[in-house]
This record gives sequence, structure tokens and C-alpha cells, in this order.
Amino acid sequence: MRHLVLLGGGYGNMRILLRLLPNHLPDNVHITLIDRVPYHCLKTEYYALAAGTISDHDIRVPFPEHPRLTYRFGEVVRIDLDAQTVFLQDDTTVSYDDLVIGLGCEDKYHGVPGAEQFTYSIQSIDKARMTYQALNNLPPRSVVGIVGAGLSGVELASELAESRPDLHVMLFDRGERILPMFPERLSEYVEGWFHEHDIDIIRRSNITKVEEGVLYNHDEPIHCDAIVWTAGIQPNRVVRELNVEKDAQGRVVLTNQHYIPGYENVYVVGDCASLPHSPSAQLAEGQAEQIVQVLQKRWHGEEPPHEFPPIKLKGVLGSLGKKHGFGLVADRALTGRVPRLLKSGVLWMYKYHNGY
Ligand SMILES: Cc1cc2nc3c(=O)[nH]c(=O)nc-3n(C[C@H](O)[C@H](O)[C@H](O)COP(=O)(O)OP(=O)(O)OC[C@H]3O[C@@H](n4cnc5c(N)ncnc54)[C@H](O)[C@@H]3O)c2cc1C
Repeated sequence: MRHLVLLGGGYGNMRILLRLLPNHLPDNVHITLIDRVPYHCLKTEYYALAAGTISDHDIRVPFPEHPRLTYRFGEVVRIDLDAQTVFLQDDTTVSYDDLVIGLGCEDKYHGVPGAEQFTYSIQSIDKARMTYQALNNLPPRSVVGIVGAGLSGVELASELAESRPDLHVMLFDRGERILPMFPERLSEYVEGWFHEHDIDIIRRSNITKVEEGVLYNHDEPIHCDAIVWTAGIQPNRVVRELNVEKDAQGRVVLTNQHYIPGYENVYVVGDCASLPHSPSAQLAEGQAEQIVQVLQKRWHGEEPPHEFPPIKLKGVLGSLGKKHGFGLVADRALTGRVPRLLKSGVLWMYKYHNGY
């Protein structure tokens, strides 16, 4: 039997499973999926879990079952590419013939002292749960500082404002306007919504230090009862420690067929892969489709395509609480209830019509 090992059951590797199962897995291939969590987590919803507006159960999707699919639930600590072996925290190892690394990303703290120690996170399910506890146990009129006004910071701030209107939410960002990757009209709409909901936007901020309950903006101390970090991501530590070529963001540089140069049987999918777009669930899924084609060609002894067409992204949708949203779909800026409904629809389709 040929052994395909998938590291991480996130958006990338779930798409690989969906495409290979139930009918496209050659009889001589066995798959092992390794994840620290025994179900697929909808990471795009962690902001709502942290804010307390959805339950933990709402964002779990069961992993598929198949006679030639085995699960190992544990923490991956190291990969030895030359020995074709994955090391787990419980001192066991798993060897592979083909490997797809899809371990996702972690917070990046940009060397800010105290940031890792004294801020909460929404980058993993266990950390999002801790953030939920901290935010929802805060006494009335507490101050919450959110560092970083990209998509996840904006979604968390707005969801929290609806969930706990008694809290004072402050959103810190380096830029002149929030959501700089979107057209100005969208930023203005979101800033207007924040104004109506008493969320303070602290522009041109530079967080220089964090201590217990204190955020230093340009060295000026600001009291916060809880601080959440949404100001940057980097690939998973296991991937950062691989001795292979990386791009400026620390993501693994790949060939056109998505394998690591020099390691034809090791693919990297999703947030850990160097691709010509910012990391996203959509991108991970688009890349997974291409990896499946390469795997299948090779398993059938055929040459995989030398190049793939660029991965098409459908757009971005963001939420402002449960009723309003914003987005960029087919280069059209959308604001209000329509993008929020679209976002809920996309999530619903993903959860219930994914073919598992
Ligand atoms: C709040 C928020 C909102 C977002 N909104 C959107 C959005 O609207 N649209 C969009 O396209 N993207 C969005 N994203 C980004 C998207 O979630 C990621 O790009 C996507 O999850 C990446 O998929 P992946 O397969 O690379 O990894 P992930 O989906 O992160 O999966 C990684 C898996 O690896 C497992 N794992 C990690 N480390 C280990 C280890 N050491 N051992 C064992 N298992 C491990 C994890 O448990 C997890 O199951 C959002 C992200 C956040 C945080």
C-alpha cells in the first residue's frame, strides 16, 4: 500500500479528502490524517466563538469516514523530510510515501515585548476558547483592546460590540484607515458602523509593549482589561522549523505542482504555502484541488500538468455583527445586509453541503 499522510485537517486537507473520497482513491492508497483536534474546525468563525455569539459545537464538522482512511489525533512536533517521517508529541512516529502539510498559521507578534504572553488569540480553537472565556467573564464597562484592524480584528470588534454592548472596545491599527486592503468606500462604511456602536478606532497606532492589563501605544500606557492580538500571522512553527526555502512571510516556496523543491512527494497546502495571494480558506481549497490532480496523475504513473491556471478567488465577505456586513465580490464593493446574508449562505453551504 502507498501511504498518503495529511498533516492538519483544515480547509486545505479537508478539500483533498473530499475530492479523493469516496470514489477517487486508488485501491492501493491508504490515507492517515493527523490533527490535534478530532473534528474539522471552521476557523473563519473563531471571531464569533470568541465573542460568545455561537457555540463551540456550531463550528465543528465531523471528519469523513472511509475504510482506507485512518486518524491519528495528536500534536505534530517535527517532520524529517529526508527520513520521510512525522514525529508526534507522544514520542510516536508516522512514516509516509506522500505527505501534504496543511498545519495552518499562528499569530505573529513582530517582536513586541509581552505581546505573546499578555494577549489573547483567535488563531486556534483552543486559544479562541480561552479568549471566549476571558471576554465573556469581564465585568460590565471593562475595556477590551483589539490590536490589528484587518478582517479578523474588525469581525471580532463588531461581534463583541453586539454580544457585550456594555464593554468598551478599542481597535488599534497602524494604518490611516481600517481594512486598507479594501476600497476606501468600504472602510468608510465599516468605520461609520463602528462609530454608531461606540467602538473606538485608534489610527496610526504603534504597539511598543504589552504588560498585564496595559497596552503601550507609542510607549503611552493604555489600560485594557483584556487584549486580543489580530495583528499578523505566520506559518505554523513545525513548518517554520523546516530547513527549506521560504518567502518573506516564512511560507514554503513550492514548485508549480505545489511540492517542495527536492522533495517531490511533499506538498504544502494553505496558510503555510507561498502563493501569489494572501492566505485564506478559499485559497487553501483552490490549491488543494490542484494538489489532488498532481497526486492522482502520479499514482496512475502519468506526468502531472507542468503548470496550473491561476487559482480563482470569488471575493471576500466580512461581517459586522449578525445583520450587517461588507465585501468585495467580482470587484464590486458590497455593504449592508446583502453581504451579511451571502456570508451566512456560504457558511451554511460549506457546513451542510460539503459532500461528507
Ligand atoms: C477570525 C478569522 C476569520 C477568517 N475569515 C476568513 C474568510 O472569511 N474567508 C477566508 O477565505 N479565510 C478566512 N480566514 C482565514 C482562514 O481561516 C485560513 O486561511 C484557513 O483556515 C487556512 O486553511 P489551512 O488548511 O491552511 O489551515 P487551517 O484551516 O488553519 O487548519 C490547520 C489544521 O492543523 C491543525 N494543526 C495545527 N498545528 C498542529 C500540530 N502541531 N499538530 C496537529 N495538528 C495541528 C489544526 O488543528 C487545524 O485543524 C479567517 C481566519 C480567521 C482567524
